[in-house]
Amino acid sequence: MTTGLYLLGVKIDNLNLGESLKKISGFLSDGRQHHIVLPYSDFLVQAQKDEKLKEILNKADLSLSDGVGPVIASYISGGEKLKSRVMGVDLVFALFAKFGAQHGIFLFGAKEGVAQGAVKNILQKVPQAKIAGTINGYVADEEAISAINRSGAAILLVALGMPKQEKWIYDNLKKMPVVKVAIGVGGTFDFISGRKRRAPKMVQKIGLEWLWRLFVQPSQWRKTWRSVVVFSWLIIKEKFL
Ligand code: UDP
Repeated sequence: MTTGLYLLGVKIDNLNLGESLKKISGFLSDGRQHHIVLPYSDFLVQAQKDEKLKEILNKADLSLSDGVGPVIASYISGGEKLKSRVMGVDLVFALFAKFGAQHGIFLFGAKEGVAQGAVKNILQKVPQAKIAGTINGYVADEEAISAINRSGAAILLVALGMPKQEKWIYDNLKKMPVVKVAIGVGGTFDFISGRKRRAPKMVQKIGLEWLWRLFVQPSQWRKTWRSVVVFSWLIIKEKFL
C-alpha cells in the first residue's frame, strides 16, 4: 500500500525512486490510464489559489515530491516524513532504462528541437530505448493528441510547465487511449538536452538548487520567492499558528 501525507492540503506519496518504478510497472499492465504528478514547493503554493490544480494533484494516481521543500516540510509538520525526493530528470532516465525497451515513450513539450536534443542524450545513455515520438509544446492540442495517438506511446512525458501540463493531461488523457502513464515533467527536456544547466550534484544534494537557479536565471525570482519564502510561511502557519 502507498503511504503518503498531505501538505497544505495536497497529497504526496511517500515512495523513493525504486518504489515508484514498481508502482509504474503495475500502472503499465493494469489496462487503465494513470496520471503522475511531480510537485515541488511552488505547486503547493499555487494550489492554494487554484482549486482546479489542487483537485488534479489530489486525484493523481501517484504524486512524488520533485523538490526538497516538501521533504523538509514533512519533517516540520510532525506527521509522516517523506523518505526522499524523486527528481524529474532522474525519473525520466529511470523510465527509459526500465521500460523503454518494451514501451514506447513520447516527449511532448518545450521549444522546437529541445525534445529531439533530449532524445539524443537519452539514447546515448539508454540505447535500447524506444522513442515513440516528439512534438514541441507550442502546437495546437489536436495536433499533439493525434501525433501521440499515432505513435502508440504507452508513456507520455508532458513538458509544458506547471500548471499548464497538469491541466492538459487532466483534460486530454482520455482522448489518448494508447497512453497508460502520463507525467508532467516541467523543464526536464531543457535540462536533458543541455539547453539549461543543472546545478552541480553537491548543490542538488544539499537542497540549494533553487539558489543556483536564481543565480543563473535571475528572472525566476518570483518563482523562487514563492517556492522558498511563501512556502515556508504557509507551512509554519499551518503547523504553529
Ligand atoms: N512550454 C511549452 N509550451 C508552453 C509553455 C511552456 O512547451 O505553452 C515549455 C517551455 O518551453 C519549457 C517548459 O515548458 O521547456 C517549462 O519549463 P519550466 O522550467 O518553466 O517548468 P516548471 O518545471 O517550472 O514546471
